[in-house]
Amino acid sequence: MIIGIDDTDSNEGMCTTYLGAVLLEELQIYGIVETLPFLVRLNPTIPYKTRGNAAIALKLKTNCPEKAIAYILSRIEELAHMDCEKTNPGAVFILEKEYENLKLVLNNFLTDAIVDVIEIQKAKNIISKYGIHSKGFKNGRGLIGALAACGAMLNPEEMDYTFEYLAYRRKEKYGTPRKVYKESFFEADRETYPKTWDTVDLTNKLVVCIPHSFDPVLFGIRGENPEIVTKAAGIIRSESVKRFAVYRTNQGTDMHLLPATNIAEIRNMHSYKLEGTVSAAPNTIHGGHVIFPLRDGSGEEIDCAAFEPTKNFRAIVRRLMSGDRVILSGSVSSGTLNIEKMEIKYLVPFYAEENPKCPNCGKHMKSAGQGQGLRCKKCRIRTPSKIRYEVKRDVEVGLYEVPPCARRHLAKPLIREKRSETRVYPSR
Ligand code: ATP
Repeated sequence: MIIGIDDTDSNEGMCTTYLGAVLLEELQIYGIVETLPFLVRLNPTIPYKTRGNAAIALKLKTNCPEKAIAYILSRIEELAHMDCEKTNPGAVFILEKEYENLKLVLNNFLTDAIVDVIEIQKAKNIISKYGIHSKGFKNGRGLIGALAACGAMLNPEEMDYTFEYLAYRRKEKYGTPRKVYKESFFEADRETYPKTWDTVDLTNKLVVCIPHSFDPVLFGIRGENPEIVTKAAGIIRSESVKRFAVYRTNQGTDMHLLPATNIAEIRNMHSYKLEGTVSAAPNTIHGGHVIFPLRDGSGEEIDCAAFEPTKNFRAIVRRLMSGDRVILSGSVSSGTLNIEKMEIKYLVPFYAEENPKCPNCGKHMKSAGQGQGLRCKKCRIRTPSKIRYEVKRDVEVGLYEVPPCARRHLAKPLIREKRSETRVYPSR
């Protein structure tokens, strides 16, 4: 049986991945937990999310599905933050005999939940059409994420995925500052990068894999396989860990990006990969955000932003000039594309002018008056105009990304790019 769960936490605590980790242990009395659990990140622009729009799925081999379902529902009722208005849990149960029939429909639903905005009714319609066992608490919005997570567990071969090792705190520590030895995170990074990523941000000298909220997560290590994330976690020194779980996940895969052929088709609350031409020099506005307009072939424009939290990435963006050609990845909110990644395809040549030197004495010639060209005062040699020469741009063609401290869960880090023909500048 596949079990999908979502929307159990609030800003005051809990985390659906934590409930998953608890169930992984407790469900052993009902059967055998098969394969690693799935942590799916859905549309990052959804306003209902508490933090990272995550949902989970587990796979349980059991002879008593009814008992297991009743137990899981009781644990959701106990652990979910039901009092919070934004918490609307959902649980979906797919029996083995239903797998084949639901594979395609839930794969499509997963893709929609990652790239699009879905009405609860759409999830409810699928549930009733296919007679899927499920339970929605309160308004049942969590059914969307729960169904999507089942879609991932049914179709791992259809997806690119990575792994995350999540370590959880002891209950009595919730809400207190996390006690960790920061240097051990840098050490774990040194030992396992680039097979792990986003543990630390070297440029900004930050540990980025520790949440700051009240939730039970102590830290999370992201990487290419379960062994490497486990190795990195083993290097970390911290307060004692109550439990941990290694999840398979669509984090770091760019699954949220839709290819946009023109700006007219772009909608808020969606994420795109968009090619265009910079149509004016980037401007740094109040708060340190860097904004510039991008134009497509039809002449339509969209504002693109490297916001202040993207730190050193803004320095690259500031070097763009009108006429440069780029491919941008990012989510669109309030009509502005929030840049996550940028491929510079073409840089317009930049020219400067200077007064030529006198061929006789070698000194720079001076203006001889308006419309009269230049001359050397001493040698009385004249020339009609200044010399124009190309200046090397202070940025290169290639792929750039925001630093780890600003990375979106779904954004694929450049160290995962397998492109040999393009120069890649991973942010560390
Ligand atoms: P949690 O740890 O509980 O999963 P979270 O930050 O991941 O916290 P949720 O509390 O799950 O966020 O809230 C997100 C809500 O949005 C869920 O109810 C989920 O079903 C719903 N949702 C997810 N993706 C979409 C989508 N594409 N369209 C509409 N609703 C969505």
